[in-house]
Amino acid sequence: MSPPLPSPVRSALADALALVLPVECAGCGAPDRAVCPACEQSLQTPVRTRRLARSALEVFSATAYAGPVQHLLPAVKDGGRTEAAGCLGAALRRALEAGARTHEERALGPPEARAPALVVPVPSARTATRRRGYLPVLLLLRRAGVAAHPALRFCRRVRDQSGLSAGERARNIAGSMTAAGSVAGRRVILVDDVVTTGASLLEAARAIEERGGLVLFAATVASTPPPDAPVGGEPQSPET
Ligand SMILES: [Zn+2]
Repeated sequence: MSPPLPSPVRSALADALALVLPVECAGCGAPDRAVCPACEQSLQTPVRTRRLARSALEVFSATAYAGPVQHLLPAVKDGGRTEAAGCLGAALRRALEAGARTHEERALGPPEARAPALVVPVPSARTATRRRGYLPVLLLLRRAGVAAHPALRFCRRVRDQSGLSAGERARNIAGSMTAAGSVAGRRVILVDDVVTTGASLLEAARAIEERGGLVLFAATVASTPPPDAPVGGEPQSPET
């Protein structure tokens, strides 16, 4: 992983851009910055981990899907605000690094004997994203300075996951993905923007394992609260 642009450089670029092209913060609408310092700061939370229901798959997420990130992610994904992707990429990198630290400690054998893990983005079930042929997670990985290995694709039609219940999401996505043969015998890290029920991540893991890959962990920018969170505490997620 090569380092992303340091924060002061990114800030300077954002300020320079704001001079020639008036912008509003993609998180809160404050004038003159692609992402204001307060919204950027709101992403700096301790990485949270979660094990998906009925699975050993552990998900590392940079922040909760609450506050400005609820506006930042859709702005990048749907609003074309790609200049706001830098802080989300940095957040994703923190989640990836936390997962890598944890799993290096648990892995067996000397690190130099092992090929680096492949970082595989989860394809989006969102109709709009598929229609545009544009995968926001790839943009976030680029901003994070992480090489992506897009080895997963859908092998049948799926419905847009937003608005579906947990059971409907699981049924909608089950058996829908297929992985490239290049993952055979490789260790894989799955990446998505948001984890909600985890249905997409579990299907991605199944497809990787079907091809003989080993999924180490998953990383996302944000995580909705687990299903047992207090009623009313779960914000609407646009994804998975
Ligand atoms: Zn803001």
